[in-house]
Amino acid sequence: MADPATPLFERIALIGIGLIGSSISHAARRANLAKTIVGSARTPETIATALKLDIIDQGYATARDAASGADLVILCVPVGLCGPIAKEIAPVLKPGAILTDVGSVKGSIVRDVAPHVPPGVHFVAGHPIAGTEQSGPESGFAELFDGRWCILTPEAGTETAAIEKLKTFWEKLGSHVEIMAPDHHDLVLAITSHLPHLIAFNIVNTAAHLERVTDSEVIKFSAGGFRDFTRIAASDPVMWRDVFLNNKDAVLEMLGRFSEDLTALQRAIRFGDGETLHKLFSDARTVRRGVIQAGQDTSAPNFGRTPDPAAGLKSGADKA
Ligand code: NAP
Repeated sequence: MADPATPLFERIALIGIGLIGSSISHAARRANLAKTIVGSARTPETIATALKLDIIDQGYATARDAASGADLVILCVPVGLCGPIAKEIAPVLKPGAILTDVGSVKGSIVRDVAPHVPPGVHFVAGHPIAGTEQSGPESGFAELFDGRWCILTPEAGTETAAIEKLKTFWEKLGSHVEIMAPDHHDLVLAITSHLPHLIAFNIVNTAAHLERVTDSEVIKFSAGGFRDFTRIAASDPVMWRDVFLNNKDAVLEMLGRFSEDLTALQRAIRFGDGETLHKLFSDARTVRRGVIQAGQDTSAPNFGRTPDPAAGLKSGADKA
């Protein structure tokens, strides 16, 4: 049996040190999962901040230098960069190393990364279903993954021991782990994450483009519901551009269904069909109860926000 005092990995390399990369480091340090954590980012500023905050022990200007000699390499960059970075680091990956990622889309990442993975290196794609609208190394925190799901999408034939080791890693970071096929992941996330973000981006822009209601009125009266969409719509534009470019089919499928349901609502409003509206709103309310029962949000009113005269409103459940 493994000695609990011995870290799970000697050397973890984080390629990308933003919200997710830095949160992995904080949670890995909390659980003593690595002897050394190194990282690379696009800009020297991010590397300097990550060193200052003790997120990494050593920083490198290139992904290739960071990945060299690591026994766990985690790609924590926007989805569209995973393929090119896998190609860059492939020659230096240590035999026996596990290569994984945290990207919000899985089919395209498996397609783009797997061909570059050298024999003897175990590639297991992954996606923690946890986040906030914040970006960058300062935004990470150790508790981000606590009680949240992490989905792993290994290809058939991947060594079981490598999958199990990565599963243990995520469990020690605080997550529950589920294994599924990449395409199924993309369909599930299209409705639970990608479409809600698309709706938020759209409604915020629709409000911003109104001519007969002023911008200041939109902001001033935002607590009527709009405010909660603005939080999601504040998410990183590069990350979300890549999600929609790489999960096109599943998102278009869900968007089609959404449009049909929206048309049904529009029709009920137009014809004063209160019975239909009441039924649809009641069904939706039941889903919220399920989310709370599953431990994926707080039952506190208004997401646990408490009025704080000094700092405005505080959020008790700020997960995207
Ligand atoms: P983030 O905070 O914006 O961090 C992205 C990191 O990638 C930064 O360190 C950035 O470096 C680095 N990067 C960008 N371009 C690079 C390049 N060409 N070479 C090397 N590094 C580069 O993003 P994040 O929220 O952590 O998201 C990272 C991944 O996690 C994405 O694939 C996303 O789909 C996935 N994810 C996000 C969430 C969420 O809620 N945010 C949840 C689950 C999964 P600089 O700082 O130097 O620019």
